[in-house]
Amino acid sequence: MPELPEVETVRRGLAPVMEGRRITRATVNRPDLRWPFPPQMAERLTGARVIALRRRSKYILADLSTDETLLIHLGMSGRMLISAPPPISGDGAAPDRATLGEWHHHHPAPEKHDHVVLDMDTGARVTFNDARRFGAMDLMPTAAAEAHPLLAALGPEPLGNAFDETYLAARLKGRNTPIKAALLDQHLVAGLGNIYVCETLYRARIHPSRKAGRIAAPRAAALVPIIRDVLAEAITAGGSSLRDYRQADGELGYFQHSFQVYGREGAPCLTPGCTATIRRIVQSGRSSFYCPSCQK
Ligand SMILES: [Zn+2]
Repeated sequence: MPELPEVETVRRGLAPVMEGRRITRATVNRPDLRWPFPPQMAERLTGARVIALRRRSKYILADLSTDETLLIHLGMSGRMLISAPPPISGDGAAPDRATLGEWHHHHPAPEKHDHVVLDMDTGARVTFNDARRFGAMDLMPTAAAEAHPLLAALGPEPLGNAFDETYLAARLKGRNTPIKAALLDQHLVAGLGNIYVCETLYRARIHPSRKAGRIAAPRAAALVPIIRDVLAEAITAGGSSLRDYRQADGELGYFQHSFQVYGREGAPCLTPGCTATIRRIVQSGRSSFYCPSCQK
């Protein structure tokens, strides 16, 4: 499941193709994904210019010239693909590279799970493919975007200014839930998922089962820069992966990233001098990976 860094990577990959560009044709091939698409979605998207492509938590938001905002949620298996028209034969003119970046993938034959296709005025094509259909798309007035049911209750962005040491201390104080659950709570902070919470707690040397309200103030404060670092490093890794995707299959969003603790059950702890092995426990139905020696 894509987490915040993966979604941000997708947004950054889409921005050069979509921002400032007009959707000349939107094609919607089924009535719904996880939820029904909004009425007349294809008609409402066709002709609209994308003014800005932003991200809130794990959602991509495209602000349109029609004063509507398109919300894109990748869900479990959603993929965004970018393709370009083939070079014009005869005079051999190549597609507009300045617009299309380094995308060399020509429009493929439509596949079974290509649910929404956006043709841009540059000739670039953005395809939303989602085999499991846990993804979503919705349209709302831009002025009311923050009130959308998926966005209204979200806490501050972990990379934004509102998420700071004072805020986190106040929200953890007196809280009787494990710190793992607290950091996964989207009301507390938006967009943190299982993988990056595991990585954060390992780096902070905090046991995932420790009660949130019983973490000493300096250790709780240290979580803020650690969360920012963990996410920023993953976004950087995603950014460098974009170059590879441009040369691979045109798909955005999933990249190989090495984790220090996530998925490493039974492997040696990577902290210098530590001889323990990484353990896994299940909390609220999700795996937590941690070092029993380093994390208290
Ligand atoms: Zn260790």
